[in-house]
Amino acid sequence: VPAKDSMMNLARIKVVVRKRPLNKKEIARKEEDIVSIDASGNSLTVHEPKLKVDLTAYVEKHDFVFDAVLDEQVSNDEVYHVTVQPIIPTIFQRTKATCFAYGQTGSGKTYTMQPLPLRACNDMLNLMQHPTYRNQGLQLWLSFFEIYGGKLYDLLTDRRKLCMREDGRQQVCIVGLKEFPVSDVEVVKDYIEKGNASRSTGSTGANEESSRSHAILQLVIKKHSNKKEDKGGKLVGKFSFIDLAGSERGADTTDNDRQTRIEGAEINKSLLALKECIRALDHEQGHIPFRGSKLTEVLRDSFVGDSRTVMISCISPNTGSCEHTLNTLRYADRWW
Ligand code: ADP
Ligand code: MG
Repeated sequence: VPAKDSMMNLARIKVVVRKRPLNKKEIARKEEDIVSIDASGNSLTVHEPKLKVDLTAYVEKHDFVFDAVLDEQVSNDEVYHVTVQPIIPTIFQRTKATCFAYGQTGSGKTYTMQPLPLRACNDMLNLMQHPTYRNQGLQLWLSFFEIYGGKLYDLLTDRRKLCMREDGRQQVCIVGLKEFPVSDVEVVKDYIEKGNASRSTGSTGANEESSRSHAILQLVIKKHSNKKEDKGGKLVGKFSFIDLAGSERGADTTDNDRQTRIEGAEINKSLLALKECIRALDHEQGHIPFRGSKLTEVLRDSFVGDSRTVMISCISPNTGSCEHTLNTLRYADRWW
């Protein structure tokens, strides 16, 4: 167990970019990989193909620097080591942590996020067996829900509709959200699969619809308590894993379909509000503007006190995604 001092040195906000490989379709279309990653592992260049007025082609280069840039060779295990694992011990010391995956649909958000809570559970359960924590009456709990069109649905209880309130002690309480006790990692895999399977799926196909929702998996450590108000135990720490809606969906505000427009506006609002909150955290402003959207309201207690935030920006490498890739990188840029 690391000393508290060394944990204090962990950055409160870490921004990591992950590039996926070109897929078969892109290769078949002879698309090029326009994202090059520097050997230093924290900077990248996007080579944007452009045309002059006389139609001669040229390339405009865009350089970005982040805390880490992971190329297409990097495994999910390595992603875990770089992003989530260093924060795990702090969850036992009253920290609330959040890991987001941001990016356009098809950039690898779900591929990246899905395995992380499993590994986190494994490490948390191991740490609970450590002599420091073994006899403290700690219990790990898991919940999984979705924000879709500004409304909350429980992904582990047949999409039951949920509502949110504050419990007067600065804790967000999601009424009706089912929390499952976790004592071994095997069941966690089932929960993740079950939850992902019940994400919004419309007539237009699974990825299409799930790209319009934010999926939030929370791992909570509670300590046994006899107090009546501490139902299920007193909260020790919390880790939220968030597979955000496709970033391009926020632009669906001029679509012909009314429902799509409403959802697009909600997504746009929540992604902007999220950026504002992270910016406020980064600048250590006292006031966090979490009231801007349902997403940030749900995360309200994760933005105050001792918090850690990891943003994983997922990018597609192909020419056709250039504009979205640049938008994603600009969103993630710390020096906004
Ligand atoms: P998103 O959730 O952002 O819409 P997905 O996670 O569903 O995107 O990824 C789109 C496709 O690309 C999936 O078939 C996925 O398996 C594949 N993919 C994404 N990232 C990687 C990666 N780093 N390595 C290999 N395949 C990947
Ligand atoms: Mg997805």
